[in-house]
Amino acid sequence: MTELDFSNTNLTPELIDNLASLGYQQMTPIQAQSLPAIIAGKDVIAQGKTGSGKTAAFGLGLLHHLNVKRFRVQAMVLCPTRELADQVAKEIRKLARAIHNIKVLTLCGGTPTGPQIGSLEHGAHIIVGTPGRIEDHLRKGRLNLDELKTLVLDEADRMLEMGFQDALELIFSLCPAKRQNLLFSATFPKQIKPITEHIMTEPLMVKVESKH
Ligand code: ADP
Ligand code: MG
Repeated sequence: MTELDFSNTNLTPELIDNLASLGYQQMTPIQAQSLPAIIAGKDVIAQGKTGSGKTAAFGLGLLHHLNVKRFRVQAMVLCPTRELADQVAKEIRKLARAIHNIKVLTLCGGTPTGPQIGSLEHGAHIIVGTPGRIEDHLRKGRLNLDELKTLVLDEADRMLEMGFQDALELIFSLCPAKRQNLLFSATFPKQIKPITEHIMTEPLMVKVESKH
């Protein structure tokens, strides 16, 4: 056993056993540096290259805080594109395999709104999607975030590059003030700073250069 073992975290045995079955033997550096703080409920800003394992870092954190018996949106992950949102949703479903009846819903632009409205009426624990479409559902009162505990900005640099700043601001304004904020990015352009200063409370800053 080493300090990088997932069993050194406070994750539930169900989540840890599932990680073993997925072949995740040890935490990657970014996971080792961010997951304990995420589990402790802190705000975290993490910078790491593509492939460093950022999805499991925030995915395991949000699953840890989730109460599956409460069928309300408790976590939301914002991604720059539909492709990335689909990948993130797929990874979260894999990480959550041991949790029965968990519902992860993707809400992205470029796909018809009708089926999304039906899915929203049915409900979800976790939303993964792109800012524009999520803003749209929020404005029309179709998405209730009153019980949101964890908000994740994944690939924040790319979301800003793509002009999602205003959509993000609207989304922040409709989230409960008391929540955990997690921001993941490969790079940190200047424009990220106002966002982090605006929404984060004493965030832990993590920067990992290498992938493994
Ligand atoms: P990033 O978002 O940082 O670009 P991903 O979260 O997409 O990286 O992870 C890259 C790959 O590494 C994925 O295929 C994922 O399943 C795998 N992975 C993540 N964490 C671990 C781990 N602890 N052990 C083994 N593989 C992992
Ligand atoms: Mg990623």
